[in-house]
Amino acid sequence: MNQERPVRVRFAPSPTGPLHIGGVRTALYNYLFARQHGGQLVFRIEDTDSARFVPGAEQYIIESFRWLGIKFDEGVSFGGEHGPYRQSERRDIYKKYVQQLLDAGKAYIAFDTPEELAAKREEIKNFQYDATTRGLMRNALTLPAEEVERLVRSGENYVVRFKIEPGEDVVVNDIIRGEVHINSSVLDDKVLYKSADELPTYHLANIVDDHLMEISHVIRGEEWLPSAPLHVLLYRAFGWEDTMPQFAHLPLLLKPDGKGKLSKRDGDRLGFPVFPLEWHDPQTGDVSRGYREDGYLPEAVVNFLALLGWNPGTEQELLTMDELIAQFDLHKCSKSGAKFDYVKAAWFNHEYILSTPDEQLVPAFDAILRREGIEAQPARVQEVVRMMKSRVNFIHELWPLCRFFFVAPTEYDEKTVRKRWKEYSPQQMQELCTVLEALPDFEQQTQEEAVNAWIAKNDYKMGDVMNAWRLTLVGEGKGPHMYEISYFLGREETLQRMRRAIKTLNIKQ
Ligand code: GLU
Repeated sequence: MNQERPVRVRFAPSPTGPLHIGGVRTALYNYLFARQHGGQLVFRIEDTDSARFVPGAEQYIIESFRWLGIKFDEGVSFGGEHGPYRQSERRDIYKKYVQQLLDAGKAYIAFDTPEELAAKREEIKNFQYDATTRGLMRNALTLPAEEVERLVRSGENYVVRFKIEPGEDVVVNDIIRGEVHINSSVLDDKVLYKSADELPTYHLANIVDDHLMEISHVIRGEEWLPSAPLHVLLYRAFGWEDTMPQFAHLPLLLKPDGKGKLSKRDGDRLGFPVFPLEWHDPQTGDVSRGYREDGYLPEAVVNFLALLGWNPGTEQELLTMDELIAQFDLHKCSKSGAKFDYVKAAWFNHEYILSTPDEQLVPAFDAILRREGIEAQPARVQEVVRMMKSRVNFIHELWPLCRFFFVAPTEYDEKTVRKRWKEYSPQQMQELCTVLEALPDFEQQTQEEAVNAWIAKNDYKMGDVMNAWRLTLVGEGKGPHMYEISYFLGREETLQRMRRAIKTLNIKQ
């Protein structure tokens, strides 16, 4: 193969539903590889199986990548010179190539009906349509040429099958797995084209498009490895060996626990999404959760997905997209499956919340506040985010922790009251109100100095005062530093809350 070939890779989903997180990882690796080599990433829609087409899926996929920051250079909705990029719009192109294989005797027409095929399966154990059985079937190899022509002309449904020569050693050269050998005798004469819908099957369309779109590397999930020998044979049949892409079959994403492939059921069972965005199934109306709606930052999703099947070989776990592009190495991807660690995913989100500038987190928290009926100045929302973000993995977790900043407590946590509200607390809080009222300003430092002096003068216990004070402002025993809270609330609100607590808790006692 010509090593100087420009890097062109593609992500080629079938629009059969929401994009699985494993598909997102495949696209991400293609993106990293393309960027690293100054190459191009093509977005192709493989929609030749009309029975499995789901409306909205294509838009969903595009929106997912937009959210994640994975950019395509060419393809459906992006334009480019190799279009159309939707396979259902390339019928005529495929017909030409199917004809080429027929003319060369590398494929043949077959008329077997589904019933006839079922009957053969009954009759012959482990039936496979191949060199050993094709002579028993109703196809162009067994019927006279005129009969074939007559049937085709009369509109009888037919398929075109690939004529696999048996006994050949087929080698798939895989960047991750090395040389994978397979004997062509185990392959069946795959259907490449169906006259009924005038469309090719996945295999033919995939190979023709990779060729025409000048794809240099096919990076895709392990589930496509069994198709690769057939694809190699197709390249050969067309005489395209010299421009055959290099293959890289990525390791599977595995269940977080137990054995096997990660599935949507694992997500439902253990409580994490397996789709990038929320998906509303147009047929059933079912809603599946998505990373975006669950409160993940796209950078966190990209980072943790990138490390499922590859790692930089260092201790570094937090990598920006640019660092990933620089360090990613297709040759260092693992062969064995990668366990999907959703707990780690939340940790990544925590880390990205910490490193994201507070003001960028404001819209997400503001949306939650509005849902709770709270309208606050952006600067105040940002201040709360600054004080509290280190305590959460997700922005929505801020609400229960931060409610008291925006809503004065009307009830007081019983346990905290029992423990923290002493018989002398009302008196102390009353005095504290007087101290705070008299301050020239309400800066944290001003408060702290005055309060410390008052505590020292009266020989009070710092802990007693602070715990009781916290209870009056927060309603329980949590929250950041006291002066951060009082400063945020302001003098008026602070005094009001304190007085209300003194009154309410006195009645209670
Ligand atoms: N249409 C296939 C899919 O849905 C593409 C497989 C490939 O990348 O060759 O994943």
